[in-house]
Amino acid sequence: MLHEQAKVRYTQRWKTNGDCSSARLERLPVEEDVEGPNPFSHPMNDKDFLKLAVEQAKKSVEMGGFPAGAVIVKNGQVIAEGISLGYTLHDPTEHAETSAIKKACKTIGSSNLEGATLYESLECCTMCFSVSNWAGISRIVYACRKTPDMVNKQYYEGMTKNEDINATNNNKIDLVFIPEFEQECLDMVKDWEQKQTKAS
Ligand SMILES: [Zn+2]
Repeated sequence: MLHEQAKVRYTQRWKTNGDCSSARLERLPVEEDVEGPNPFSHPMNDKDFLKLAVEQAKKSVEMGGFPAGAVIVKNGQVIAEGISLGYTLHDPTEHAETSAIKKACKTIGSSNLEGATLYESLECCTMCFSVSNWAGISRIVYACRKTPDMVNKQYYEGMTKNEDINATNNNKIDLVFIPEFEQECLDMVKDWEQKQTKAS
């Protein structure tokens, strides 16, 4: 009975907030009285984690970096976040992905991230793809595809496709593009470019 009452209240809260993440964040005290699993909780999915990577890209800009962000997830948990501060740190190896990979390895005390997924706001460059390979990353999920315009502006080494490198590498990484946040990421890059122009 308590369970049913809680379910009704969760349903109301769900409708009020419109999405399950805020429903989860605003758990009602009655949950403690419920026996069994919360019927409305669900594990974070690819899109949820990708959104976190996009949020890291926003943070990167706020911190004076390039608009790229990444998170690494293992066993359903975020184990590292990364932003792109290569320009400000004078470190060409410090991209959002490499930053996250280094942190993730430190967190788990190993250079082997097998079974982990790298979520990134922008499709990774050849360096970050290669480091992912060396780290044993199993999947890469990205929000925005590399464009010729980005290559022209030196945001990438060139037009080499990660899929082509993947095909000839020893270990294959599962590459997944989810288009949901692509426009948002492109807009973020444009805004960042405009700020650079104004600053110079
Ligand atoms: Zn990179």
